[in-house]
Amino acid sequence: MAEGARLESVYTGNRIVGSNPTLSAIWRNLVSCQEVGHTLGLDHQDTNFNNANLGTCMDYTNDPSTNQHPNQGDYDELLCIYDPAYAGQTLSTSTHSCTGTGHLDSTTTLGQTTKMPNAMTDLDFDNSGNWGRLVSESRDHGQSVYELDFGGGNKVFTFVTWTLEERGRRAHAASQLK
Ligand SMILES: [Zn+2]
Repeated sequence: MAEGARLESVYTGNRIVGSNPTLSAIWRNLVSCQEVGHTLGLDHQDTNFNNANLGTCMDYTNDPSTNQHPNQGDYDELLCIYDPAYAGQTLSTSTHSCTGTGHLDSTTTLGQTTKMPNAMTDLDFDNSGNWGRLVSESRDHGQSVYELDFGGGNKVFTFVTWTLEERGRRAHAASQLK
């Protein structure tokens, strides 16, 4: 993941022009598009706020109106990064250029069959006795993680969020153990 939810695009110089909950729909389009783009591996096409808009959300701007969507350069970049058919080919638009990397994972999980023990697929989670051993619990006793080990690297983890009543009961039980 690149920047996650960091909203660098809503700042103009030192001035914030929008904050998360109150961003206009247009800024939201630009920012969410840009962050998804980063997550897929796309870089900014331009980081000068004052240049003319390139028509892509991967462009810094003071006026997001025409930068709410990816442009052809961004789609080309995805081909350059991910599509082996474009290995060595250069794709260019007026705003962007890239050369295909021929990226191909050396391994794939496609077609992999799961070899879970049958018992793993037939668990009754309503019964806490089937969750296995407690492996962690939050300090306030609100969340617990249980592990049921079937051997051979096959494990079932159960994540539990307790009711307030049960938290109190668990906190009390823990204090009795000290
Ligand atoms: Zn960015």
